[in-house]
Formats: sequence, C-alpha cells, structure tokens
Amino acid sequence: MPDLQFSCPHCSQALEAPDEMSGDAVECPGCSRKITVPGIGKPEQASAPAAPSPATGVEKCPSCGSELASEAVLCVSCGYHTGLGKKITTSLS
Ligand SMILES: [Zn+2]
Ligand SMILES: [Zn+2]
Repeated sequence: MPDLQFSCPHCSQALEAPDEMSGDAVECPGCSRKITVPGIGKPEQASAPAAPSPATGVEKCPSCGSELASEAVLCVSCGYHTGLGKKITTSLS
C-alpha cells in the first residue's frame, strides 16, 4: 500500500504517513501543530449504495436476450415490450 499523502491544514506542508497511521494525531513537521492523518477507508464509490441493476446502460431483453439500450422499452429483435412485459406484434400476418 502506498503511503498516505496529505497536506497540513494549518501550513499546507506536504506530508506523508504510512496508511496504518490513518486517523492518528501527529505533529506537523512544518508548524508543529497537531493534525490528524486522514483516513484511506473512503473509496469514493462506496458512498453510493450498490445499484440494484449491475449493468448500467445496457439491459437484456428477458425474452430473447438481445441487448437493449437503457431507455429502450421495445426489443427490436423480438418485439418484447419491457413496460408491458410481453411481446408486441405489429404485423397483421
Ligand atoms: Zn503544519
Ligand atoms: Zn427480445
């Protein structure tokens, strides 16, 4: 794991600390004031809860498995309408 890189909030001194010091209070070598080593356990994507649908932007037709655009409601391959939950047949054969 790379060291944490952060800057002192008091004097903007660029600092590094081992990641295991996350959350510890340390003394800034630049201004000798107590600062807290920022945490690393904050991956940005963790702030959002897991999306209910794993595939974003692409859905699959439940009828034939063809990929559908996220905004598409009608499968062009088989005519399945995702809103109605059934195939729509436009042909009058
Ligand atoms: Zn400082
Ligand atoms: Zn389909």
